[in-house]
Amino acid sequence: MKCICGKSAIHYRDWEKKFYCGPCLSRHVERTFKHTIRKSELIKNSKKIAVAVSGGKDSNTLLYLMSKIKAVELIAISIDEGIAGYRKQTLQSAKKLCNRLNIEHNIISFKKEFGFSMDSIDKNYCSYCGVLRRHLLNKTAHKFGADKIAVGHNMDDEAQSILLNFIRGDMNRFQRLGVSPHVISNKKFVPRIKPLRNIREKEIVLYAMLNRIPFAHASCPYSAHNQRRSIMNFIDKIESEYPDAVIQIVRFYDNLRPMLNKSASKVKINFCQCGEPCSGKKCMACRMIEDIRNER
Ligand SMILES: [Zn+2]
Ligand SMILES: [Zn+2]
Repeated sequence: MKCICGKSAIHYRDWEKKFYCGPCLSRHVERTFKHTIRKSELIKNSKKIAVAVSGGKDSNTLLYLMSKIKAVELIAISIDEGIAGYRKQTLQSAKKLCNRLNIEHNIISFKKEFGFSMDSIDKNYCSYCGVLRRHLLNKTAHKFGADKIAVGHNMDDEAQSILLNFIRGDMNRFQRLGVSPHVISNKKFVPRIKPLRNIREKEIVLYAMLNRIPFAHASCPYSAHNQRRSIMNFIDKIESEYPDAVIQIVRFYDNLRPMLNKSASKVKINFCQCGEPCSGKKCMACRMIEDIRNER
């Protein structure tokens, strides 16, 4: 099969029924990345951006693409949750890319910051891990004086998050999705941006391979049975019949956005002493850390 440029194709976009060759796909990914940043003003007035790098395909690709933007200073932050047989490998690939791009790499560990690692606690792993990881990212980015945190969420992740919060009935979290989540500013809270959010996961993998970006293939051993995994399987099933399902879910959310912004501004948000937005006095992360420490 041939790309529209005439070269032989390596990728078929079933949602638009078109074939792409390597260079055309790479160009398309870069264009979407830049367009997302420009259209949503993700780095407007930013001087220093902290990129959350796990060492996997998405965040390594994000760091690689961000490094092409000369107007901002970058630092890379990796969180080491202390998960045996997984994190070591991913941290190595993050380190390798940072060295190649000449970007400062900071590894922050649960063990050192909280006094426990994920492997050492007996909890519903995924829900704790995600909250605590975000908490540390925010704390570290703030410490380094970054004004944004860029995370590697792709379009498939976003569609999953939309459905996940829908199913959980979590309106609060649902309102905070999107390329640059709508949050009232607070000096200790560093806003997150998702420059890859309009790019499909499989195209990020292809882009990483086409551009020789190193990445680790390991996936977290605790993720096999979580709720997100069920949603992933559900979307796969729907997509086999409706190839544009993921794109439509994300578009639907974007169309809903103006209405969500209106209602979000009416909700009063407090800030925890750590800087995270929360509904009560303490944020989820601070409560979790207290819980775990008390049980030990
Ligand atoms: Zn082509
Ligand atoms: Zn807190």
